[in-house]
Amino acid sequence: RYKTLPDNKSDAYELKMLTGAYNDMMLTLKVHDDNQQAFIMNASHELKTPLTVISSYARMLERFGKTREDLLDEGITAISEETTRMKYLTEQFLSFTKVTHSDTGGEMEYIPVVKLIESVVYRLEKVFKRNINIDASGRNPHIYVHPPAFEQLLRIFLDNAHKYSSDDIDVAVDETAHAVLIKITDYGIGIPEEDLGDIFTRFYRVDKARTRKTGGSGLGLSIAKQLADNNDIKISVSSKVDEGTTFTLIIKKEADNGEAE
Ligand code: ADP
Repeated sequence: RYKTLPDNKSDAYELKMLTGAYNDMMLTLKVHDDNQQAFIMNASHELKTPLTVISSYARMLERFGKTREDLLDEGITAISEETTRMKYLTEQFLSFTKVTHSDTGGEMEYIPVVKLIESVVYRLEKVFKRNINIDASGRNPHIYVHPPAFEQLLRIFLDNAHKYSSDDIDVAVDETAHAVLIKITDYGIGIPEEDLGDIFTRFYRVDKARTRKTGGSGLGLSIAKQLADNNDIKISVSSKVDEGTTFTLIIKKEADNGEAE
C-alpha cells in the first residue's frame, strides 16, 4: 500500500535524469564561481601594488611632507601616477566583465571596414605620436559586426603594437572569397613561441618584469578574444622574438551580404 519512490521504471529514470541535471547545474555554478573567485583574486592582486605605493607615500608625506620639499614632489608624482594606473586597471576590469556578460555586444551592422580603421588610426596616431600605415590595396570590403566592439578590438591590438614596439605599425586589409583579413603588424619585441598559446588567458603576461613598465593589465587580449567571439571573428597570431608580431583578424563573409555595397 505504501508508495515508495521510485515505484516504477519511469520514475526511477526521471529521478536519475533530475539528479543528473542538478549535478550538472551545480558543476556549472561551481566552475562559474571558481572563475569569478579567480578573477577577483587576480584583480585584487593587481590593485594591491599601486595601493601599497599610494599608502606608503601618503604616510611619508604625513610625517615629512611639510619639511622636505623633494619628498613632497616625489610623493605627489608617485600618488598621481599610481592613481592613474588604478583607474586604468578598474576600467579594464569593468570592460572585461561587460564583454564576458553580453552575447554580441550590441547591434550588428554592415560597415565599410577600411573607413573604420582609418578613423581609429587617425586618432591613435596622434596619441602614439608615430606612423600607422594602412594598406588596403584599393579594397573596400564590408563586414558584419557590432561597430563599437570592433573598434575596441582594433584599439587593443594597436595599443599592444604601440606598447611592445617602437617603429611604424602596419595594418593590412586583405580579402578571400569567404573572409576579410585584417593584419596588425609591429616590429617590436615579439612573443616567445612557448607563450603564444597563453597570451589570450586573462592576466597572462609574457614577462612580468618587462611588461610591468608598459603598464598593462594582462587583460587586453582576453577582452579582445571575448569581443572577437561575440562577433564571430577568429584571431590568429604569429610572432618572432626581437622581430615582431602579427595579429590577424579573420572575419567571415556572410553568405547573404546583400546589404553590403
Ligand atoms: P597587457 O595589458 O599586459 O598588454 P594583454 O592581454 O594585452 O596584456 O597581452 C598579454 C601579453 O601578451 C602581454 O603582457 C605581452 O607580454 C604579450 N603581447 C601582447 N601583444 C604583444 C605584441 N604586439 N608584442 C609583444 N608582446 C605582446
